[in-house]
Amino acid sequence: MRQVSSSVRTAKTPIGGIEYTLERKKVKNINLRVRRDGTVYVSAPARVPVREIESFIVSKCSYIKQAQEHFRSRTESAAEERRFAQGASVMYLGSPLELCIVQSAAESVTLEGDRLIISLRDSSDLSRGERLYAKWLDGRCREVFTDLMREIYPFFKAMGVPFPQLKIRVMKARWGSCHYTKGMIVLNRYLIEAPRHCIAHVVAHEFCHFIYPNHSRDFYSLLDRVCPQWRSAKTELEKLVVL
Ligand SMILES: [Zn+2]
Repeated sequence: MRQVSSSVRTAKTPIGGIEYTLERKKVKNINLRVRRDGTVYVSAPARVPVREIESFIVSKCSYIKQAQEHFRSRTESAAEERRFAQGASVMYLGSPLELCIVQSAAESVTLEGDRLIISLRDSSDLSRGERLYAKWLDGRCREVFTDLMREIYPFFKAMGVPFPQLKIRVMKARWGSCHYTKGMIVLNRYLIEAPRHCIAHVVAHEFCHFIYPNHSRDFYSLLDRVCPQWRSAKTELEKLVVL
């Protein structure tokens, strides 16, 4: 997903101000999208005046509010599902793991079948447990994501792309991004909740941006070649993991 220069504005509507990001593009019509983090994105041709764009937003204002509310409640329930607690079920590579917090002289995090054993000197210190768990998750992300990058790399090596640097971050609205000028791919930590093939399509997508830093027809035909099943993987990922 490419970084673009755009302006943030607020449209006056009967149900209050709606903040939106406006991008001028070579498109035929005004396009409006509510992102998973609730932000509103509008693309419009250069010739369309702002007042026309804003009256379009007014006509869509109840849809926008509903979509924002929908994403907000999904995000809240996802945060509740990810809550760190004894016996909680968390998703890992597409399967649920049970969090088991135990008292032990030595602190560790160990995966045993479908149980994740978090050994703490003080088993009531949940914030300590949560930190160890997050560190474990980061390590697992680095290993799994790097493996997937190595699997796909030969294709891009042949096209002259240097092996990229990997950054892992928690992001609210995207699965990943490609900083093609810096030779870096950023992947969302929550991807580790999804099955491997779902993560693979995001890795493939970001790699393709080293060749095409946009979402052009050429970009998608390359993605089709590198990862033919990307459409179904994307649908599955969006169903399984909520940001
Ligand atoms: Zn993209």
